[in-house]
Amino acid sequence: MTSLSSLIEKQFAGERLGAIREVAERAAGQGLRVYLVGGVVRDLLLGRQIVDIDIVVEGDALALARALAETKGWQITGHQRFGTAKLRRDGTTLDLATARLETYSKPGTLPDVRPGAIADDLRRRDFTINTMAIEVTPTHFGDIIDTHGGQADLRQKLVRILHPQSFIDDPTRIFRAIRYEQRLGFRLEAETEKLLRRDVSWLGQVSGDRLRHELELVLKEEAPETALRRAGDLGVLREVHPGLAGNGWLTERFESARRNGSASTGLYLALLAYPPQADVESLIARLRLRREVARVLRDTQALRRDLQGLAHPEMRPSAAYALLQRYSMIAVRACLLASDDCLVKERLTKYLDEWRYVKSLLTGDALGKLGVPKGEGVGQVLEELRRARLDGEVETVEQEMALVRKWLETH
Ligand code: ATP
Repeated sequence: MTSLSSLIEKQFAGERLGAIREVAERAAGQGLRVYLVGGVVRDLLLGRQIVDIDIVVEGDALALARALAETKGWQITGHQRFGTAKLRRDGTTLDLATARLETYSKPGTLPDVRPGAIADDLRRRDFTINTMAIEVTPTHFGDIIDTHGGQADLRQKLVRILHPQSFIDDPTRIFRAIRYEQRLGFRLEAETEKLLRRDVSWLGQVSGDRLRHELELVLKEEAPETALRRAGDLGVLREVHPGLAGNGWLTERFESARRNGSASTGLYLALLAYPPQADVESLIARLRLRREVARVLRDTQALRRDLQGLAHPEMRPSAAYALLQRYSMIAVRACLLASDDCLVKERLTKYLDEWRYVKSLLTGDALGKLGVPKGEGVGQVLEELRRARLDGEVETVEQEMALVRKWLETH
């Protein structure tokens, strides 16, 4: 058996290696075997940066984590139902899970779960490249378990499911497959791609919450547009919602968003839902989008319809401001990226960079001293001063005072 002990020692030098050994030694003391699994092994073998350290215990992971928390100063967050625990100490985090055996009774729903052996735990996984384990029990430290051909597929750069029923058992794997393929620069293995295309309609069985979660994971990738494009080509996006498309238009907008520093999940979603055929209300319902995100999508659509007004050369800055301040900032940014009209773009940029910060020089207190009635009166005058400043009618304090006096004469 190949030993990867030196690779682990190199990759996790310092704090993280100490933490892994601590868990493994405590587990061994209880007669349990422990393994690094899934993404951590994949990324270790690929020489990629490792963010999450997932550890599987052949035994009660929660009890092991509790024992470590009691004696070794770890902070623990546990999930009794799933037999999992997160351990945190200083900057180090470890995810512990009990090895599990899963069976699917109904497609698209969550599986039935029982404790199992490491082999069971690997068999339930999504793709061969995620099915490898490296044992860290002291007596077997560094032994790799690769029963599904994970290393061969890593070498060939292939994303391959473990059995033909995989996408039906869990259609969210369709998104996962595309994510890994695009992130790692791999390809879907031919049979896997065929089955993915065959099973794509099973996405209709997936709950809105799970589907939203998958889409959010795609949008958190470094270049989500590549995965969206691929999802579009494979017929995946239209299963999520008939109006969605991953195309060149979207690619350009996503890239610009990253260049100008405005990229966020909400902004990406607003751009994805920008085309008029996207019908945001049904998308919001299908993905059970949270209130703030739903607002961004609705605002983006409403502002898209209002853009014609902004394209009018006669429109005053104060009128543009009054129109735009009703909308969420992300919606304004989405429309800036989406619009092709120079004047519209100029006004949206002005709004984002300048107009929304414009305030009168005179404060509310100062207005009170000048005799403006407190409350509504002050509010009205501050608004009037902002309007005048936006339209270039006042610049100095004296000019503002003159405007206030005029207001007092007429009110
Ligand atoms: P990432 O770098 O995206 O975090 P990861 O491989 O660590 O990649 P997770 O989503 O954290 O991915 O999942 C951890 C592991 O659990 C995966 O490597 C995979 O083996 C398994 N897994 C996750 N989701 C599924 C699923 N839907 N079906 C089967 N196995 C899954």
